[in-house]
Amino acid sequence: MSAMPWFGMDIGGTLSKLVFFEPKDSIVEKTEDETQLLSNVTKYLTKNSAYGKSGHRDEHLQMDNVKICNRVGTLHFIRFPTSEMNNFLELAKKKGMAASVSTVCATGGGAFKFEENFKNELNLKLCKCDELDSLIRGLLFTVASNNNECYFWSQCTADEQCSKQEYTFQYKKYPFIVVNIGSGVSVLAVYGPNNYKRISGTSIGGGTFLGLCSLLTGCNSFDEAIELAANGDNTKVDKLVRDIYGGSYSKFGLPGELVASSFGHMNSKEKRAQVSREDLARTTLVTITNNIASIARMCALNERIDRVCFVGNFLRVNPISMKLLSHAMDYWSKGSQKAIFLNHEGYFGAIGCLLSFDE
Ligand code: ADP
Repeated sequence: MSAMPWFGMDIGGTLSKLVFFEPKDSIVEKTEDETQLLSNVTKYLTKNSAYGKSGHRDEHLQMDNVKICNRVGTLHFIRFPTSEMNNFLELAKKKGMAASVSTVCATGGGAFKFEENFKNELNLKLCKCDELDSLIRGLLFTVASNNNECYFWSQCTADEQCSKQEYTFQYKKYPFIVVNIGSGVSVLAVYGPNNYKRISGTSIGGGTFLGLCSLLTGCNSFDEAIELAANGDNTKVDKLVRDIYGGSYSKFGLPGELVASSFGHMNSKEKRAQVSREDLARTTLVTITNNIASIARMCALNERIDRVCFVGNFLRVNPISMKLLSHAMDYWSKGSQKAIFLNHEGYFGAIGCLLSFDE
């Protein structure tokens, strides 16, 4: 077993996720130094919710009474933009976080990209884990540990009636699909705890949403982009079936409100003059989300799997996309496929990585 403190890190294309295990049981650490170090690190990480300008602790996600490696404690969840890695390394050095931690488990592309930086600047060796192995492992562990981890959106046809409902996910019952929407998207089919395959993916993901939205609206953050989208109307930008047919295309069951052509109105100068930043943000969100829903549906159909778990930080503070995904899965499958969401949406890679201490 490695010396405390235990960290799991997922260094992604956009966000770095850090999970920290704070032991709460009364087992005495091996040495005085170790106790002192753990106490310093714990104090710093748990007394703050913001670190520097861009680090943030998701207090609402904190998990208590978690058992890892026969120790009982609390899991803390921290994220910062990967572009701030140099500042993170500096802060970790300043706070003495790396002083006697000898290894940190890390996953994501950044575990490779920043390996040398960790070594040179913190004298830390990264123990690298595969990101998809970690994702599945973290997800299974979290669902097993938290009764109320999973939820779904019911009645998503009418937005006012659409509500979030707790979902008891039979995670021991396989198979199920995982759609991880990060900067890009990976689709996995999970057949058992150690048996999964990556069946598809697309480069049109959360990074695309944020990139296009920044170009079109000049927004400066993901949270701002989502707020703009919440106040926008995509039907001013998208060409709908009814704009082409005057109603629905009933022969093939396509309702009039369905988007026929994303951004299809924007070739018209007059229409362009009428749209707001909010409308453009909404349309970008709807376009990216519907494309992912379509890929997820086809994957589920191909694999003959009816449960689809959507995870990744694209879904953070983003009920619009969750409702759209739910509606698309339900509507096009005539109720046979189900979209499931998880509270710790973006942290499973980091959690799974931390669990390698258990080996
Ligand atoms: P990755 O591992 O590729 O960084 P994540 O699962 O962390 O993937 O998701 C990154 C995506 O989450 C971004 O592309 C963006 O759409 C969304 N996102 C959510 N919160 C933020 C944030 N605070 N800053 C940047 N992107 C965010």
